[in-house]
Order: sequence, then C-alpha cells, then structure tokens
Amino acid sequence: MNREKIRALALFSGGLDSLLAMKLLIEQGVEVIGLYFDTGFGGKGEEEKKRYLQEVAQKIGAQLEIVNIREQFIQEILFDPKYGYGKNFNPCIDCHANMIRIAKKLLPRYGAHFVISGEVVGQRPMSQRLDALKKVEELSGADGLILRPLSAKLLPPTIPEKEGWVDREKLLDIRGRSRHRQMELAKKWGIENYESPSGGCLLTDSGFSGRLREHLRHDNFDLEDVDLLKWGRHFRLPGGAKLIVSRNREENERLRKIEVTKYTPFTLPLPGPLSLITTEASEEDRELGARIALTYSKAKPGESYLVTIGEKSYSVSPFGSKDEVRRYFVQDG
Ligand code: SF4
Repeated sequence: MNREKIRALALFSGGLDSLLAMKLLIEQGVEVIGLYFDTGFGGKGEEEKKRYLQEVAQKIGAQLEIVNIREQFIQEILFDPKYGYGKNFNPCIDCHANMIRIAKKLLPRYGAHFVISGEVVGQRPMSQRLDALKKVEELSGADGLILRPLSAKLLPPTIPEKEGWVDREKLLDIRGRSRHRQMELAKKWGIENYESPSGGCLLTDSGFSGRLREHLRHDNFDLEDVDLLKWGRHFRLPGGAKLIVSRNREENERLRKIEVTKYTPFTLPLPGPLSLITTEASEEDRELGARIALTYSKAKPGESYLVTIGEKSYSVSPFGSKDEVRRYFVQDG
C-alpha cells in the first residue's frame, strides 16, 4: 500500500489527549480526520464548541467532521449501558465503544484504514483502565482496527501496526493519571488553549446529572430535553409540571432557539425572563408557574398582572421575594 495514502479516523473530543493522539500520527505522515461525535451533552455553547474544534483541528493539520449521534445515543446508549455509569450519568465504556463502532462503519466513506483514540491506560477510573479498554474493544467490534497512539506500546499490536501503516516504535507508552508527558508534548508541538470554551461532557457533571435524574423521575426524555436541561432555573411544581425560567438575556436567547413541543412559553405584561411550562400542566401549576415567573420580572409584589400561557390568561401577583419560590427548585444532585 502506498504509504502516502494511509488515513485514520480519530475520535476527537477536542481534549488534549485526542489532539496529541492525532498529532502523533500526523507526524508519521498519516492523514487524520477528527470525528467529533455530537451526543448533545458535549457542553453548553454549541457554536463556540464547533469554532473551537475547527480551530484546534486546523492547528494540528487535521480535518474535522461533526457526526450527529444525538438520537441514536439517547435511544441506544444513555439509559441502558452494558457497563453502567461512571461517577455521574456518564456511560463512558459504552459511549466509547459506540463511537468506535460508528467510526469503524464510516471508514469506507472516508477512504480511511483504521480508527484512533486518545485513550490512555489507567488514566481515568472507568473507561481507561486496561480491562476497560478491552471491554471497549470487544463491545465496539473494532477487530484490531482501533489504535491508541498514546498507550500503544503497552497494548498488543493492532492491525495498523502489524500492517506497517504506522510505525509502532514512534508510538508511546503513557500510563496513569499524571499529565506530565502530555503537557510536555503539548509544549513541544505548540498546542495551547486546548480546553473547550463550552466545557466538557455534561454527563460527567454532578449538577447536570442530578437535573437529568430528576427529570427522568417525572417526565419522558426527548431530544428537546437535552438542550432545555442546560439552561435556566428549573422548578418542579406540586402537580408535577416542569417550569423553566431563564436567568439572563443570554439564556433567553438560548431557550428561544430551542424547538419545543412539550412546553409552552409565557407572555408577561412587562420585561422579564423567558419562561416555559409543561404544556399538560394543571391549572394550579400554571397559575403558580405564572406567579414564579413574575417574581423574576420587574413586577411589584402585591400588584396583579395578566400572564398569558398558550390560549389562556391568568391574573396573578408575584411572590414577595425570590426566597419564597426556592422550595420549588429542582435540586441539582
Ligand atoms: S465523558 Fe464519557 S459519556 Fe461523555 S462523551 Fe466522553 S465517553 Fe461519552
């Protein structure tokens, strides 16, 4: 095979390890296409994230492709992972295996030969222990086509190494939690600012995971909930309805852009936060929701205002203070 045409698909999270794994192969003359798998949980600001990914991929000489797996991830991975969850709602072993499986299927489309991942043996408690890497490999059906350049020398040779598509000698033997060698490599290759501005996977965040768990105790989970859970203050009302009240102008815009089918927005008679309530909410929950939303607006306690929810209007007053509505807060965690 012509050495010039070797191409790899990389699992590209945007984090340092995936960048270094890609760069190691690029340095060997392998063409690398970084696949960013969009599960919907990859951080808060999607546009910022995409800009960041584009920028860092370009910097190391890789191409970027975004693969939208939101629906598949929710339907097949998130709620029934074979190997369970990490510390929070993160099904990392199944999630990695899923990404590798999809990347492997995409090999012919990109004319690529194998898949690479930035996993490091023993670095993280769940997905990157040696036995966990084996589980990922089995579950993904990668059949020797998954190469972990940062720890390759600690692992049995893979097809790309045996076939001579990559030089095993130039791969690494990083093990454990210390980031020392990664930092040195980052320095050597001038890779800086490798933290995504929108943050990492929300499923590893205890607050977000708590919100998600609370949601699942009361509601069905649909695609729109992925984005709704990221923004606003969330309240659970006595009749079971969910109320979401934006915290600031940015959240107003974020929430406005989400296409909602299960929630109805409020119209307040004066400036205030964007608010949404479960469309099926009872009359009592709607009235209470209107009072809470007014409490976060410029409404004056003791005065009545007409708040419209869908087709109906409710004449209500705000609570005397924000402290009074705290008991309805969804507790994160
Ligand atoms: S942190 Fe875990 S669950 Fe989140 S994207 Fe990575 S592997 Fe998947």
